[in-house]
Order: sequence, then C-alpha cells, then structure tokens
Amino acid sequence: MANHSLVPNVSRHDCLDKISFRELFDAAVEAKLLVDAAGHIVMANCVAQRVFEYSLDEMLGLEIEALVPERYREHHRKYRKMYLAEPYKRSMGNSCELKLLKHGGQEMAMRASLSPIYVETKIYILVTISTLDRRGEVEQALQASEERFRLIQQAAGAGVFDIDCANNRVYCDSRMCELLNNGTEEIMALEKFFAVVHPDDRVKFRAIFDDVIDLSTGNTCRGEFRVMQPPDQRERWVAILGQAQFENGKAKRVVGIARDITERKLLEKALQQQRSEIETLFSQQVAIITASAIAHEINSPLTAVAAYSDVAHRALSHRPIEKDKAQEALEGCIQQALQAGRKLHELIEFLQKREIQTEKLNLNRIIEDALLQLHSDGYGAFHLALDLEPDMPLITANKIQVQKVLVNLIKNSVQAMRGEGTVHSEIAIILKTLPGENMAIVTIRDNGPGIDEKTISHVFDPFFTTKPTGFGVGLSISRALIEANGGQLWIDPDFREGAQFHFTLPYAS
Ligand code: ADP
Repeated sequence: MANHSLVPNVSRHDCLDKISFRELFDAAVEAKLLVDAAGHIVMANCVAQRVFEYSLDEMLGLEIEALVPERYREHHRKYRKMYLAEPYKRSMGNSCELKLLKHGGQEMAMRASLSPIYVETKIYILVTISTLDRRGEVEQALQASEERFRLIQQAAGAGVFDIDCANNRVYCDSRMCELLNNGTEEIMALEKFFAVVHPDDRVKFRAIFDDVIDLSTGNTCRGEFRVMQPPDQRERWVAILGQAQFENGKAKRVVGIARDITERKLLEKALQQQRSEIETLFSQQVAIITASAIAHEINSPLTAVAAYSDVAHRALSHRPIEKDKAQEALEGCIQQALQAGRKLHELIEFLQKREIQTEKLNLNRIIEDALLQLHSDGYGAFHLALDLEPDMPLITANKIQVQKVLVNLIKNSVQAMRGEGTVHSEIAIILKTLPGENMAIVTIRDNGPGIDEKTISHVFDPFFTTKPTGFGVGLSISRALIEANGGQLWIDPDFREGAQFHFTLPYAS
C-alpha cells in the first residue's frame, strides 16, 4: 500500500514531544478545566479564566461547585461522586444547557462535557465547557419562522406592505406590486400608494389609513378597495389587513398584507343582481295578482252597471220617457255599485285576515341587521350617522316586517342620492322614545334632493313612482306594515335639506 504521508513518522513524534499538555490546553477554543477526584480545579485554560472571570491563581484549588449556582451545589456534589464511581466520556445534563456562575455571581447558560483522564493511579476529569451560541439559534429560529411565513403567504397569494409613517414611504413586496398593478417598484411615496386606489374608493381608503395611525381609534385596519387600471381592464378588488406600530403615541409603521378578492366580489355582485331581480319580479307579481283580484271582484258589478246604464239611457231617450223603467235601471246601477264596494272591502279584509307573528325585539339590533342587509345588497356606500339608544325598552313587532321597512326607506334614500349624484351622501338614523308616549320613534334622514311639494302628497299612493324602473309600492307597503305592527309612518313635509321619514312602534307592555 502506498504511503501518502509526506512527513516521516520519526519527525512527527519529534514534533509532538515538543508540545506540552499546557499548550494544548490553552490552544482549545472552549473553556477547559481539569478537576481531581476531590472535585478541586487543578488546571484551567485561558478561555475558562476569561469566561468565568477568575485569574489562574484564584481558580486553582477551587472546588468545582464554586462555579455552580448555590441551589444546584449539593445535587452537583452527589452527581460528581456518582460519576467518579463509573466515569466515561459524556456530556452533562443530556446536552441540555447548564447554569454556571461567573466570579461576580452572574449566571450563564452553557454546555459541558466530561472526559476521565488517568495519570498513573489517579483519575482527573477534563471538563469542556462551551457557551451557547444564542445568536445562531435565534437566527435559525428566525429563518425558520420567515420560511413558514413565506409559505403561508404564498399559499394565500398575499402581498406584504410596510408603510414608513415618518418618511411617508411604502415598501411593497413583489406580490403586492402585482396586486396594485404597480410594476416592480418596491419602494414608493405614500401618495403614490393612495393613487393606485380607484378614485371612487380613495376617500374610504384614506379614512381607513387615518384611523389606523390614530392611537385613539385602535391600531388595526381592514378595508376593501378597487385598484386603478388593471391590465385586462377587469375590475380588480383587493382586501387589506394591517396593524400600526406606535412610538411615543405617534404611528411609526403600518405593516399589513393584501389579497386579491375580485372573484368573491364578482360573485357577490352577481348575487346582489339576482336578489334585486327576484325582488322586482316579486313586486311585479304582487301588483299583477292584486290588480287581477280587484278586476275579478268588480268585473261583474261593473258589467251590470254598464247594462243598467244602457237600459236607463234608452228609457230616458224614449218618447214619451219610460220613467219607471229608467228608475228601475238606475236603482240596479246603485245596487251593483254598492256591491262592487262591498266586494272590494271583503277582498281587503281577506288579505288582512292573516295574523302577523310578533315578538319582543330590540330595535337597535333590527337597525344594525338592516344596515348589514343593505351593505350586502350593494346599498352600503354612504356616510352613516347613527344615534341609537342601547338601553331602550323592547318593542313588540314582526322582525322581518320592521327590517323590510328600514331597508325600503334607506334604499330609497341611497337611490335618491345616487340619482342626484350627491357628493357626500349621508344618512342619519335616530332612535328615540316618543315624548309622552310608550313608543319608540325612528327617524331616517338623508341629504339627497328631497321631495318637492307637488310630489310629497303622492309618495304613499300605491304605484306612485318617479323612478324609471320603480313600482311605487315601497312606501305604501311600508306604511301598511308599520300600521299592522301598531305604529305610524309619515314624511316630514317641512324638512328641506333632503328627505326625512319617521315611524313609531309601541313598546312591549
Ligand atoms: P319606488 O321606490 O319604486 O319609486 P316608493 O313607494 O318606495 O316606490 O317611493 C315612491 C316615490 O317617493 C319615489 O319614486 C320617489 O319619488 C319618492 N321618494 C321616496 N323616498 C325618497 C327619498 N328619500 N328622497 C327623494 N324621494 C323619495
């Protein structure tokens, strides 16, 4: 076999002979201590002296337990004796960190291993002590957590933004740039960040940002907005979730994530459209059925009135006038007209006969539910001024009907303001107790175009509408529903800055 060693064996031995145990000891990068069978330190290398902050003189002869915190000392002495009974090379504490003491009493987390060394008949224990590489461990943990975050972010398709509030700059990762259609510009001015938001959503987006950097309004923000000019010209919706960090009461950073929610928004829009089509169809059907029922009830009396009128006409045209015949025919007319009235009355009575289910309700809650429904129906884009009364008594009413009235009134306001292009559309909802009555009064007020004097007297007429696709039954039905629940609904004719409706409902006794 070829000898690859370039250094002859003889000179190798020569060289090793020249290196002393002390030199090897001091060359180690870890702290090393040599301890005798009685537990006294007989040698300590430079690293050990530096780590434990002892001079060599101070260390030599010291019981090893001097380096162990008081609370572990007794246990350590027992452990040492047990180890001497069966010494072998091993690490202390199953590789767990140990607590050791510096000269000044400060504790350190360390790892130690023990190796027995035999010199003639005596045994010594070589203790190798290494400090824990905390930084490395922290870095490793950080790397692992960053990796986990990256994987979650990738799976969710989320982008990350980080707003530096002091310098009005925003950092966006590549996914965020993609979501905002903003090329690859990773750091941008805050104003540019706002400018990528669709103009119709910008005010709302700015308000969300202003709120999150205001310590008094909480430090988290959520929002949904459209993005300017997507490359495919399709509407793109993005949802953000962010958190602000404060320093001395001032926002320092806002860090958050964003997700593409376009598909969800398109689905919601399709559902809204479907719902409003169903509602229109339903109103149409109600109108048709009501009209047919009325026609059915009054058709025969009207035909009879026409026939009697014809007879009366002919009797009166006859020469000489057939007075008795005319009188008889006119009598028939009166009877048939009265019959038509009675039939209509019976029809209305029949329709109103069904008992409505009422229960004790919190009106505050019904208003909140109605607002949620309006939001999901696409009628939520207005500034809301709510003035509720959380501790007000319960009312007795039918929940669905009262909610329907609220939705009708607020939808009307939104439609009026949209139609007029009201810039800062605002709806106020005020809930109070009607003074001197055991009743709640709800006021719904908007700052839209209002209703002119000529129109106002007709708004509660069935089938009165000023909208191209309206049915004109919303207000008449709403009034009927409130009356069925024991209240009243009316419009304030003197309100001039928009439209104002009120309705009352009795408290549960
Ligand atoms: P529709 O909404 O189908 O027209 P409604 O009975 O709900 O039927 O309303 C009747 C009419 O009352 C509307 O067409 C509109 O002219 C008027 N109106 C109702 N609410 C408002 C409002 N908040 N502002 C202005 N006009 C309103």
